[in-house]
Amino acid sequence: MKNIIFIAPPAAGKGTQSDLLVKKYGYSHISTGDLLRSEVASGSELGNSLKDIMASGSLVSDEIVTTLLKNKLSTLDGAFILDGYPRTLEQAKTLSNLAKELGIVLDTVLYLDMDSVTAMKRAVGRITCPSCKRGYNKYFDEVKPKLENICDDCNIQLESRSDDTEETFKTRFNTYIENTEPLLKYYKDLGILYMIDNSGTPQSTFEKIEEVI
Ligand code: AMP
Repeated sequence: MKNIIFIAPPAAGKGTQSDLLVKKYGYSHISTGDLLRSEVASGSELGNSLKDIMASGSLVSDEIVTTLLKNKLSTLDGAFILDGYPRTLEQAKTLSNLAKELGIVLDTVLYLDMDSVTAMKRAVGRITCPSCKRGYNKYFDEVKPKLENICDDCNIQLESRSDDTEETFKTRFNTYIENTEPLLKYYKDLGILYMIDNSGTPQSTFEKIEEVI
C-alpha cells in the first residue's frame, strides 16, 4: 500500500476520509493535530506551552511538530496516512529528508479542496464522541446525532474542539491559504500530487481516493 499525505483546508474531511481508509485498508493514521492535542492533554510542560498557540489557530513551531512526528514515524510498521503535515514548504522539505533518513517512500499526495463557507460550517458544527470518537455535525442532517448533542452509540454528551470556534477557524483557514500554494507547487513539480473532487458526499470522495491508491 502507498503512504498517503493529505493536504486540505481545516474541516475539509481529512479525518473522515482517514477513518474510512483505516477501516477498509488498515492504514495507520498520523495526525499532527492529534499528536499535539495528546501532548496538551498530558499536562506536560511542552503541552502547556502549546495550548495558547493552538487555541489561537496559529502554527506550532516546526521543531516541536517535527520531533513529535519523527518519534511517531520511527515506531510505525506498514503504510500510513499523514494528516496535518506538511503545512508549509519548509515542512515539506523537512519531511522529504526525514523520509530518506527512515527509508520511507512518499509518492502519493492527495489534495482535497473545500470552499471557506462550507469548511466554516463543518468546523463550527463539528461535535465528536469523547469515547468512540465518532464525528457528527449539528448543521448537516445526514450526520446529526439522533438526540441533540448525544452520541447515538455511546449515549454520552458530544464535545467540540476548542479551536473550532468561528474566530479561530478564520485564522486557521487564512494560515492554510497563505501556506498552501507553494506546497501544492512543490508536490506538483515532483509529479505526486493528485487533485480529488471533494464536492460530493464523503462516500463519493472516498471512491475517488480509492481510484488513486
Ligand atoms: P489540526 O487538527 O490538523 O487542525 O491541527 C490543530 C492545530 O495543531 C493547528 O491549528 C496548529 O496549531 C497545530 N498543528 C497541527 N499540525 C501542525 C503542523 N504541521 N505545523 C504546525 N502546527 C500544527
